Amino acid sequence: MPSWFSRFISPLVSFSGRCVVCRKPLRPQERDICTCCLSQLPLTHLSDHEENILEKYFWGKIPVVHASALFIYYQGADSHMILRNLKYGHQPSVGITLGRVMATYLADTSFFDSVDAIVAVPLAGDRQRHRGYNQAECLAKGIQEITRLPIVSEGIVRHISNKSQTRLSHAERYQNVDGIFKVELPERFYGKHILLVDDVVTSTATLTSLARAFGEGHHTRFSILTLAMASSITETPYYRVDNREDMENREGEVYMPDDRYDDF
Ligand SMILES: [Zn+2]
Repeated sequence: MPSWFSRFISPLVSFSGRCVVCRKPLRPQERDICTCCLSQLPLTHLSDHEENILEKYFWGKIPVVHASALFIYYQGADSHMILRNLKYGHQPSVGITLGRVMATYLADTSFFDSVDAIVAVPLAGDRQRHRGYNQAECLAKGIQEITRLPIVSEGIVRHISNKSQTRLSHAERYQNVDGIFKVELPERFYGKHILLVDDVVTSTATLTSLARAFGEGHHTRFSILTLAMASSITETPYYRVDNREDMENREGEVYMPDDRYDDF
């Protein structure tokens, strides 16, 4: 058993309920997801690699420092139950638990070293009222428990409720999220390194739109951390490009996959 895994399991207090993946009763030391399902998550291992594929995905779009995701999301995989319960199952605790898992997994790396604050991707007001919570915020809270980094949400809003990205083409996805976020007084983030947190990354559209709402000229840098990464990202030839400067010169002409995997 890897050390991060046992560190995560051991401090948990007694909790009852059923595993969000296999629905078997949880043991006293388990919370939301059982040890067996947790150990079988298809981890991305992105943090093992400098300039990993997810980071390259954002090159040329935003000033990205690090990017990571805990597991790969495959259509129909068991792990999609985590995303489904997190988003639609009225189970915000799943987000906090998995946020702790994400941060524990990265705790021994340099991922959080220069991060100043965590920003969860905001939901539009009507969607959050309907759901009762923001799943990205739940993940951020779990990450905060482990890292002690501050979460900043004040003045960062999704002021346009865009339609679901699920059935849109790549180009439509970018149009759909363009300008939907608003950051008040972006100069307060001058020179800061912000960790953007979301539940799943399927294309760069949403996270890029949020990062751009921080404005240009403030030297704000970003890292990306999501619970899941769509398997379509690993299937694109995009990541085979090795040169960051080359990618920055080619913004707008880079092939990105249409996503077919976030319909969970
Ligand atoms: Zn389970």
